[in-house]
Order: sequence, then structure tokens, then C-alpha cells
Amino acid sequence: MEDYSYLDVKGRIFDIQRYSIHDGIGIRTIVFLKGCALRCRWCCNPESQSYEIETMMVNGRPKVYGRDVTVREVMQTVRRDMPYYSRSDGGLTLSGGESLLQPEFATALLKAGKSLGVNTALESMGYAKYETIEGILPYLDTYLMDIKHMDPLKHKEWCGKENTLMTENAKRIAESGMTKLIIRVPVIPGFNDTDGELLAIARFADSLPGVEEIDILPYHNFGEDKYKGLNRDYPMGDAKRPSTQRMEGFKDLIERSTGLYCQIGG
Ligand code: SF4
Repeated sequence: MEDYSYLDVKGRIFDIQRYSIHDGIGIRTIVFLKGCALRCRWCCNPESQSYEIETMMVNGRPKVYGRDVTVREVMQTVRRDMPYYSRSDGGLTLSGGESLLQPEFATALLKAGKSLGVNTALESMGYAKYETIEGILPYLDTYLMDIKHMDPLKHKEWCGKENTLMTENAKRIAESGMTKLIIRVPVIPGFNDTDGELLAIARFADSLPGVEEIDILPYHNFGEDKYKGLNRDYPMGDAKRPSTQRMEGFKDLIERSTGLYCQIGG
């Protein structure tokens, strides 16, 4: 008899977004898991960072972020959205935060998605032991992996931790051949928005077996009000979003210099 106990696994989320057309193919249900190991200065979801349940002021009113749910409860929403997936090849995406900080919950969610026959994706920077990642790969169609910078010290200065674990995991995920790996790069003013820095990431992505696509995502300040709502300073000050022309220039450069298809997202 099949063991369905994974449906009772509990985890902590801070949002479920339905009918999204980002973060994977087709129309998707995105489950945002709470807790992150990094503290990227440009993070547009500061309410995702702490695992603790917290209150943020939204439009002058307090709103609680973080709730504990079972996989079964999340799947009720996924089941409702299934007609949209079948028309668009869409499915379930896990985001955060860093989903891999709740490995049992993340694995069980993806396993439940697969058992319903839906496409699964994970948006993550790969901050976990490879053994943890290995456990989710059999249930994962697409890994959308953030690579933010190739210099470990600059990565630490802007994100709070070095990048060595993540780049090592990217190599091992690619070598496993078990999932489609897409590299995503947030283009951040003053951090990595130069030809040299972006090309270094693109060349690394191009060296990964099976990787054909890199997505570059322009910085935006849509999360600024959330910092105020959490009574925190906005770390990016008045940094400006890179222009469309500049993003197109990066795309051209990457496609001329590597074998990758480059998509501008966000
Ligand atoms: S990894 Fe993502 S969720 Fe975590 S701090 Fe950075 S931008 Fe925010």
C-alpha cells in the first residue's frame, strides 16, 4: 500500500500566489516558504528572510506573515488550479526565502505535485548540503537557480555569505542531469551590473553541462515599502533600475560570448 504520510508534513509559508506566469513555464501556483540564509541588500521580500512569524505594517495596518501548513492543505490550492496548468503546461513552483532550509517540507510538496502529475519548479540559490538537494531532484522538473556573483568576498559583503556552496551545488546539479537547470541573475546596481561581472557568471553557467538558458532580472525597488513596514532601513537607498537599453546590451553581450540563450525577466 502506498504511504501518503508525506501529505501530513508541516512547514512554514508566508504566501501562496496563484495564476503566476513567472517562475517556470505556463500558469503556476507559487508557494513561498519562510526563512532564508542570506540577507541580500536588494531583497524584495524581506518578510521572507526570518523563519519567525512576524508582523509587517501594510497600508497602515498590521499583517501577520508566516503560517504553518501541511502539504495536504497546500495541495488543496494546487488541485483547484490544475485546469489552468493543463491548458498552459504550468504547475507548482516553490519559492521563498530559501525552500531548502525546510528540506522535508519542500521535498514532500514537490513529491505531492508530481503525484498529481503537474510540472514542478524550484526557485532557490542552492544554499544546502548537496545530499539535501539530491533528495528533491527526483521530484523536480526545473531548478531556477540564482547565481548572484562569482567573487566569494563580494557575495559575502552584499548577501551575507560566500557563494562557494552554491556554485559547487550548481555543478553537481548540472552533472546529475536529473532536472532542467536555468541560471538566474539579478542585475544589481553597484554589485554586479558590469560587463565583466555578468560575463563571469554567464561563462560559469555556460560551463555547466546541459545548461542552455540564463535569465537576467533587472533590479527594482518594489520591496522598499516592506522594509518600512518591518521598521527596517532599505539597504539599497535610491539605487536606480537598469534601463531597458542596458539590459538589452547585457543580453547581446552574453549571447555573443557564450552558447547560452539569454532572457530578460522580471
Ligand atoms: S536569497 Fe532571495 S529571499 Fe534570500 S535574502 Fe536573497 S533575495 Fe531575499
